Amino acid sequence: MNRVVTGNMADVKQGINKLRELINHHNYRYYVLDSPEISDAEYDEFMRELKQLEEAHPELITPDSPTQRVGAAPVEAFGVVEHPQPLLSLANAFSDEELDAWYRRASNLLGSRRTDFVCELKIDGLAVALTYVNGLLDVGATRGDGYRGENITQNLRTVNSIPLSVPKEAPPRFEVRGEVYLPKTGFKKLNEERAKEGLPLFANPRNAAAGSVRQLDPRITAQRPLDIFVYGLGWTEGRAVPETHWEIMQYLKSLDFKINPNIALCHTIAEAKAYYAKWVESQETLPYEADGVVVKINSIPFQVELGNVGREPRWAVAYKFPAVQGTTRLLDIGINVGRTGSLNPYAILEPVQVGGVTIKHAALHNEEDIHRKDIRIGDWVVIQRAGEVIPEIVEPIVSRRSGKEKIFRMPETCPVCGAEVIKPEDEAMHRCTNAACPAQALERIKHFVSRGAMDIEGVGEKMSQALFDAGLIKDAGDLYYLTQDRLLSMERMADKSVANILNSIEKSKNRPLPRVIFALGIPNIGEETAELLTEHYNSLDDLARATPEKLQEIPSIGPKIADSIVAFFRQGQNKKIIEKLREAGVKLETEKAKRKDLPLAGLEFVITGRLEASRQEAEAKIKALGGKAGSDVTRKTSYLVVGEEPGSKLARAQALGTKTLTEAEFLELLKKSENKLK
Ligand code: NAD
Repeated sequence: MNRVVTGNMADVKQGINKLRELINHHNYRYYVLDSPEISDAEYDEFMRELKQLEEAHPELITPDSPTQRVGAAPVEAFGVVEHPQPLLSLANAFSDEELDAWYRRASNLLGSRRTDFVCELKIDGLAVALTYVNGLLDVGATRGDGYRGENITQNLRTVNSIPLSVPKEAPPRFEVRGEVYLPKTGFKKLNEERAKEGLPLFANPRNAAAGSVRQLDPRITAQRPLDIFVYGLGWTEGRAVPETHWEIMQYLKSLDFKINPNIALCHTIAEAKAYYAKWVESQETLPYEADGVVVKINSIPFQVELGNVGREPRWAVAYKFPAVQGTTRLLDIGINVGRTGSLNPYAILEPVQVGGVTIKHAALHNEEDIHRKDIRIGDWVVIQRAGEVIPEIVEPIVSRRSGKEKIFRMPETCPVCGAEVIKPEDEAMHRCTNAACPAQALERIKHFVSRGAMDIEGVGEKMSQALFDAGLIKDAGDLYYLTQDRLLSMERMADKSVANILNSIEKSKNRPLPRVIFALGIPNIGEETAELLTEHYNSLDDLARATPEKLQEIPSIGPKIADSIVAFFRQGQNKKIIEKLREAGVKLETEKAKRKDLPLAGLEFVITGRLEASRQEAEAKIKALGGKAGSDVTRKTSYLVVGEEPGSKLARAQALGTKTLTEAEFLELLKKSENKLK
């Protein structure tokens, strides 16, 4: 699949621009939305083409080309962390020859000085930088664009294998780098739960891990079984550290960091190749995803000398595992109608074994994507799976076409209810326009009762379907009007289960407002956005009255989400459901309505250093009294509570003129505030 452009300069320029646009689009899907549309192998191919073109025409390289940049800019809502030393990407190798070429380039600079290599698995997760100050975890950040990352300290604190404190022998200030990942089993479970809840599935464990860590609400992160492997030191201050990468890794282990047990010290490049060959064969046995092997020059002084070229260090290379591919026939394209009315196409394949797994279906994202790849019904296609990733169609085998293949068109009417299908201009998906479409209605009910939403025990997917089929419920609001008699009229319903169902429906009336908002199934509103909305709106009615402009004043709410909220509350069908909920006594307000009167309302506290009482306890008290517990000193911070051996936050507070409190003063303030409540 090599489309490198040749020809006149205008063609080359146009080719470069097209590739850059394409790669930027996929970078955004991957790094910001954690929801890629193409496989990594396809992405790597685009990148390789762009690199080849730029190598042939260096005068066309611009600083904003994706070949010169790492990842994507941080999302401001998290708070931004400047990396004292950039977190870079890695150059790729896809064959032994490319590994040799990397080594040759390094040797040319090192001359006759020989070096060892450290070989590690390339864990497929999310890069994080953890800064420790005076023995305590101070800041945890994503890589972001390499220079500025997102502050996700609170979320990383919930990852059990990240030490919150380190032994005394550690340097007073240092940064470790590692990969946060989701084990294969955790990924499967998470996607199963999401499928039940009607939420879009994560394409692979890497995106699932990134999506889990980059949550605005750390409680969601805490529920995900995340883990970490630390793979290096960023920078250190105040104490000398070993001079080889191998020794540094042993040193980090001695400081209680979790390092991957499959690390190996290799003396020659041939040994590194053997390490790679072994793991190509046995990667499937790993309980987590690895997408290659990282080969690193062992000597740190050599690493420093070799430095970086653009966004990649010269002293390391990622030797990627090949994706597993197979060929089969595309028998048909099926359509699922989701709860928001989106028509989701999927490939129905002639079953085929790929890497030991039988594949019958593959992901097809939307009509545009199907046409971009020129996939036709009846085509022979190359399919690809990598680890736990949902299989994908890479490309059609055009040479095997008989001429009878059919070009796919999205149906003009909904395959379930027959209503008109539209494609909003700025969206990739087609949608059914009928808010009362049974497919949508049922999917919405299933979502409403699911665990992250109203969590109505005893009414799962099957029961929702049975109630719906029996005509007892047409929407989620009807659940609250079910009676014992009506339920008993259903087949195989015993008194006890009826009582249980009624009981859990009753209990769900008191769910917190974010859950209700999430449960309503407003397009584009996930758990964290629902949570965010209730920080600004105290009741469902307030939210229903909000204008798109007002909504967009909330950081990280863009025009798409704002419009989606406004459109939802405008729909008569949805208004009816909300009225049913209100009449039944479902709580449609936050606790915050009450909290406004709490003594610490409107104040934000940040803690630095060690407190006598536990930090969690202190933060819980602040919140209980209506205050906010922040992780970084900003202009919004009202007080910095200074414990023993404070970190860099103190200097920042002094620079900003933020008020500081000793622990005793802080306790006094809490006591006074508590007294006010009595
Ligand atoms: P990368 O993931 O290929 O390599 C760099 C990263 O490897 C580091 O940041 C680090 O987090 C990680 N890593 C894991 N184990 C490591 C170890 N033992 N030592 C050192 N680092 C280790 O590079 P990238 O810039 O993060 O991403 C580029 C890759 O992401 C592409 O090659 C592609 O596979 C994928 N991607 C895919 C899409 C898509 O749409 N499918 C879009 C963008 C990127």
